[in-house]
Amino acid sequence: LLKLSEGLEKTKEQISKRIEGLMASHSKIDESFWEELEEILIMADVGFEPSMKLIERLRDRVRKAGTDDPARFKEFLREELETIFKAPKRITAINPPEVVMMIGVNGVGKTTTIAKLAYRAQMQGRRVLIAAGDTFRAAAIEQLEIWAKRVGAGFYSKGAGADPAAVAFEAVDKAVSEGYDLLLLDTAGRLHTKINLMEELKKIQRVCGKKHPGSPHRSILVVDATTGQNALQQAKLFGEAVGVDEIILTKLDGTAKGGIVVAIALEHALPITFVGLGEKMEDLRPFNGKDFAQALLG
Ligand code: GDP
Repeated sequence: LLKLSEGLEKTKEQISKRIEGLMASHSKIDESFWEELEEILIMADVGFEPSMKLIERLRDRVRKAGTDDPARFKEFLREELETIFKAPKRITAINPPEVVMMIGVNGVGKTTTIAKLAYRAQMQGRRVLIAAGDTFRAAAIEQLEIWAKRVGAGFYSKGAGADPAAVAFEAVDKAVSEGYDLLLLDTAGRLHTKINLMEELKKIQRVCGKKHPGSPHRSILVVDATTGQNALQQAKLFGEAVGVDEIILTKLDGTAKGGIVVAIALEHALPITFVGLGEKMEDLRPFNGKDFAQALLG
């Protein structure tokens, strides 16, 4: 199994090696140091605004430390990265089943991520029901069913073309009456009909709550790390429309765009809970800022 540090190898080359170069080429942390750092961050897909924010915070940290020694810089960066990653909020006292709405644009790896989460929960002894709420794509339903069988989770579908809110309502009902611990509710991700999609997601949220008060307990947005700044826009879009509680970042294996992790944490203050490091059901890693900073900076 790929470790986080291995998955981040390419991003690390982008960031860590260049930062080491930056530290070695400067005798002190001065304006030219910050300018070069800005370039490095933008190149690593941290993005313009998040890079500015990160640099502001780093300047502050350096000022407070009262040193301009570049040799200390990696330590400052590591500390800063660790502080910008929020811990996910703990949800206490959920009346089971826990209902999780999975949202995200087509192709980001949502289906695979649902399978990975289901696999993980089942391994922890929880009974999982997966519901096919993306009734727009028949192939997505089939794929989800194959995954559900493979990981040993329950599966609920009303086929292609069904009303997604009806699927959600009935899936919650099934999860409650059959004593499931966790319901993972897939949703559509067709972005070309943006407004309809958001309305659809809101309706799903409403009907879940009618059947099982307090649900959906969380919405998890799945974004694809290889799309860099697009992932950031998606977080904004879905966040404004339906609310996002957590982010899972897929395809971090083999991309040099891992800087997007920093951008998401800085711009949206949303916890990244897991990262995808491959196509198999085992390829999901819990994310924590400390490990990430360590993997990135060595
Ligand atoms: P969906 O359209 O969002 O449901 O996307 P799928 O789950 O069908 O995934 C799209 C493609 O991305 C598939 O080929 C998956 O195997 C692949 N994929 C998903 N997650 C990961 C990941 O973490 N790493 C890699 N390398 N591929 C992934």
